[in-house]
Amino acid sequence: MNLKNFFCIFIVVIIVIFKIKRNPKLNNIILVTVLVILFASAISTLNGCSQENSYSSIKKTLNDSMKYNKLTPEEEQVILNKGTERPFSGKYDDFYEKGTYVCKRCNAPLYRSENKFDAGCGWPSFDDEIQGAVKKQTDADGIRTEIICANCGAHLGHVFTGEHLTAKNIRHCVNSISMNFIPVPKEENSEKAIFTGGCFWGVEYYFQKVKGVISTEVGYIGGTKDNPTYKDVCYNNTHHAEAIEITYDTTLTTYEELVKLFFEIHDFTQVNRQGPDIGEQYRSEIFYLNDKQKEIAENLIKILTDKGYKVATKIEMASKFWKAEDYHQEYYQKNGETTY
Ligand SMILES: [Zn+2]
Repeated sequence: MNLKNFFCIFIVVIIVIFKIKRNPKLNNIILVTVLVILFASAISTLNGCSQENSYSSIKKTLNDSMKYNKLTPEEEQVILNKGTERPFSGKYDDFYEKGTYVCKRCNAPLYRSENKFDAGCGWPSFDDEIQGAVKKQTDADGIRTEIICANCGAHLGHVFTGEHLTAKNIRHCVNSISMNFIPVPKEENSEKAIFTGGCFWGVEYYFQKVKGVISTEVGYIGGTKDNPTYKDVCYNNTHHAEAIEITYDTTLTTYEELVKLFFEIHDFTQVNRQGPDIGEQYRSEIFYLNDKQKEIAENLIKILTDKGYKVATKIEMASKFWKAEDYHQEYYQKNGETTY
């Protein structure tokens, strides 16, 4: 239960006691009303992470502060003015390396190379998108279906069905210029990082947008029970924290950059909470995977402490990271689709 709901219930109870004392006849009606309010409030907090509050506030913060990549006039013509590049002219038309295609404007992952196929049409073609990454809407011509980046609204192209070009029978026809390509890094260039800093939905949402982040998973770490569930972590005192495990390409970003971002996206001075989310599972902590990571984290905390901040963030050697239930993965990507 978050602080706001608790406060509301507290106020209601006080008012009710006051009213009953002054007019005992009101007892039954008021009792029923209070029970309904308490029940509704309890239901609203069971879904986790005080989602209404944190979801809208995170979306708002992102919309307010997210810096989109600067676009060239040619890119703007397609991405913002919904133009179309000439067929067979884009750099990803005849291109089949392994990796991920991301939005040119906001870096959100859009398509995987496994879903790319040669449609012979002159534009990159995919028969599936990354779940929740692409939004479909009726084109201005009233006939075709336009596809845009679900995160920033960048124009991508159009989607067609019924062509029977692949088993999935769908073709996302995408302008090369609307995307960047991130190749699968070589094994030696891939490293992991684990952070806990409040509701993992939001932390994941931020890190997914970082250049060089290959993939993210949310889960639980630092507790006492094997295979913990969300319920265990929230209600059964298992001491786990809601965590994010990041796999990143060391040639595109560094552990230090990730730790700096971690400190920017959460309030590292709060102990066992982040805003309305209160509890040990929301603690601020860096789970290092090797001595180098430990040293970097310690140095950054020292810099913040020297600047006068009271840093609540703990540093601990990573224990086993337990992946969370599927419905928690890419939560905002999946659910953003309907509220975009
Ligand atoms: Zn985008």
